[in-house]
Amino acid sequence: MGRIALVTGGTRGIGRAISEAMKAEGYTVAASYAGNDDAANAFKDETGIPVYKFDVGDFDACTSTMATIESDLGPIEVLVNNAGITRDKPLHKMDRETWDAVVDTDLSSVFNTCRNVIDGMRERGFGRIINISSINGQKGQFGQTNYSAAKAGEIGFTKALALETAAKGITVNAIAPGYIGTEMVMAVPEKVLNEVIIPQIPVGRLGQPEDIARCVTFLASDDAGFITGSTLTANGGQYLD
Ligand code: NDP
Repeated sequence: MGRIALVTGGTRGIGRAISEAMKAEGYTVAASYAGNDDAANAFKDETGIPVYKFDVGDFDACTSTMATIESDLGPIEVLVNNAGITRDKPLHKMDRETWDAVVDTDLSSVFNTCRNVIDGMRERGFGRIINISSINGQKGQFGQTNYSAAKAGEIGFTKALALETAAKGITVNAIAPGYIGTEMVMAVPEKVLNEVIIPQIPVGRLGQPEDIARCVTFLASDDAGFITGSTLTANGGQYLD
């Protein structure tokens, strides 16, 4: 049996591609989700990957469900923090609830999940933690003070935890995707995609979820053991950090 990997938000979009790629590489995968039971059940039926419903922004929910995952499958050796949301508004129109929703789901979640695996990884002397950040955490984005702050925070968290765990066989890295052709991005009108968004991307296309999944399988592999604290930028050249 392969190593155990938990992919948060692993039932849809980029997370789904990550879950499938990890399974294809031989990992025993658990995929989490928040509330879209139909999508999660369809994913489970199509892939055979077990799904677990919990809010990654809720520390106690992470503790109890991650314990269930470990009792079902074994110790989590690879953690992919992919679950994320956007709630865009310029700051002068943003209320505290909208700020909290994004910071809880996109940043505090990373503390919540990592805190629940870190002791076991340290004891076993092995771990891979991969945090899915965003180009907008690197460059900022209009209407996304909440999201850009959370995604930039993930990068700082990644660097600090990498330093704390490097001597324990654990690597911690971030991936910063650019525009990826998920449902969210494909909902943008075709004219806007073709005339505004794609011209900003030097390679001339949107990324695909599989482009990000390949970054994850590489960073999770034994071959990537010398890489820690890094941010792998996968954005078609749109922003060079
Ligand atoms: P999707 O909206 O397609 O999927 C999000 C997944 O996260 C779903 O499985 C969803 O569950 C889950 N999720 C959302 N909130 C929570 C929560 N509170 N607790 C647990 N699970 C939750 O997202 P994308 O595939 O587009 O994005 C994935 C990641 O990549 C995010 O972190 C995003 O910020 C980042 N990213 C995306 C880019 C893009 O172009 N799409 C670009 C750069 C970064 P459910 O199905 O139940 O809602």
